[in-house]
Amino acid sequence: MAKINHNFDNLVPNYLFADVSRKTSEFIKANPDRRIIKLGIGDVTLPLAPIVVEAMKHGCDELGKKETFKGYPDYEGYEFARQAVSNYYKSFGVEVSADEILINDGAKSDTSNIGDIFSQDNVVLVTDPVYPVYVDANIMGGRKIIYADCTEENGFCPMPNKEVHADIIYLCSPNNPTGACLNREQLKAWVDYAISNNAVIIYDSAYEAFITQEEYPRSIFEIDGARRCAIEMCSLSKTAGFTGTRCGYTVIPKELTVDDTNLYKLWYRRLSTKFNGVSYPVQCGLKAVFSEEGLKQIKENLSYYQENAKIIADTMTECGIKFTGGINSPYIWFKCPNGMGSWEFFDYMLNQIGVVGTPGEGFGKNGAGWFRLTSFGDRQNTIDAMKLFKQLINNK
Ligand code: PLP
Repeated sequence: MAKINHNFDNLVPNYLFADVSRKTSEFIKANPDRRIIKLGIGDVTLPLAPIVVEAMKHGCDELGKKETFKGYPDYEGYEFARQAVSNYYKSFGVEVSADEILINDGAKSDTSNIGDIFSQDNVVLVTDPVYPVYVDANIMGGRKIIYADCTEENGFCPMPNKEVHADIIYLCSPNNPTGACLNREQLKAWVDYAISNNAVIIYDSAYEAFITQEEYPRSIFEIDGARRCAIEMCSLSKTAGFTGTRCGYTVIPKELTVDDTNLYKLWYRRLSTKFNGVSYPVQCGLKAVFSEEGLKQIKENLSYYQENAKIIADTMTECGIKFTGGINSPYIWFKCPNGMGSWEFFDYMLNQIGVVGTPGEGFGKNGAGWFRLTSFGDRQNTIDAMKLFKQLINNK
């Protein structure tokens, strides 16, 4: 008889996004004439940069000619793509060589699949609130999960507790959902903690392109000691609008060793068995993103989202509402006014002004009473939503 992986029984059904979408659909059905503005989604809305589209088209043309046709790509990505990522790191002062970079189909796959190379008896530390993928993937793998509390008191940037041992540590900065960023000192404390615990940090930098303030590191490899304890995962999804195109990259320093085992080699072994690489046209697109002109073009889209984030953050300030994010992050994480619960505020905002966001408690217990809005929407919708939001809060 086939046996099921009963670790799946321990997963919480994804009530959050299912409930958000069910409640929104019910509201639309009951109020077909009402305008609804969605600021809940984490997906981008602006198109790919023209230089990226051209590069991908050119890649397709090459595949259509016998002389330039390509079959299976290299598991770890083409040299030209890895070199482009390496040069990008260099542009903000981080030395990562092309042969430490592995091109993938996005950060979600690698942040969840990396568990394949770690045994089941590792203790995994995640923050609370957290991007749910880290939790669910490790529940599927049967690992014990412990939490570092992110609260209003610590600015949603938890520090390591030396009394508690962890083997694998997930950090995400700028953070989804809180928008909070770890500064160099805070990140150094995590690196030191990881080294003293012989632990590995899985550092998710999917939102690094939103960092504008110098005091925040864009890569964990800006921190001394990180090459001895960290793996970094990043993505073009939010950097360059690749949510539908699918491309990202993982960095594993060549000297990173656990239990006398080289992690790059172990991951490569896993990769070459379970993954057949990212398509050539998409890797051409990645190369174009990191060209001089590409970086200029993607900056325009990033600035658009950053301006949306500012509009939302300024509204929170005007309304006297506590929040994190908005600067260095596309997310704005705010305290529900008048002590309301996350779901209570969700219903209130939807019913009163037709604006949809994401209730914080869906990301963990510390998200209760907090709420996430995103800056990935349309500018006019963002402006209109914030005008309505101000009226809602001021009339209360
Ligand atoms: N990591 C974080 C923190 C995210 O918020 C997301 C997507 O929202 C991802 C990874 C997934 O990114 P990708 O589209 O590269 O799989």
